[in-house]
Amino acid sequence: MLRIGSGYDVHRLVPDRALVLGGLTIPYELGLQGHSDADVLIHAIIDALLGALAWGDIGQQFPDTDASFKDIDSRILLRKVYNKVLAAGWQLNNLDATICAEAPKLAAHIPAMRSLLCADLQCAEDLISIKATTEEGLGVSGQSAGISAYCSLLVIKVP
Ligand code: MG
Repeated sequence: MLRIGSGYDVHRLVPDRALVLGGLTIPYELGLQGHSDADVLIHAIIDALLGALAWGDIGQQFPDTDASFKDIDSRILLRKVYNKVLAAGWQLNNLDATICAEAPKLAAHIPAMRSLLCADLQCAEDLISIKATTEEGLGVSGQSAGISAYCSLLVIKVP
């Protein structure tokens, strides 16, 4: 049996914050603002996993009013959620994600992001697709106000 999940997230770009995407810290003059490390890609993946199993959303699982999640590495949150998915008898079938950013250029960083996500999701790299696009000067990312990410994935019931 398969179940589908989708996730979306956006965070504002601000000075004096690290830019963390897919668990990778990327050199850039701005970073993403948020209670955690504000890793939009991982947040979209977490929401897609939660959505696939109808388990609510990341804000319910990890409230931003909880001081223990302040500046937390989102990979820790991803591993927590994925361990629950595995414990419930499901595993990732495949994942396809898109990051929308006007800058910086992300293509060169995608292989390293995939490696980190494969480690957290305990799967082969060919199950994880990460793409990056600009929005041609339009919308949140186009105006460089923020970076957004979308994720679609399937989970499969372990026989
Ligand atoms: Mg978020």
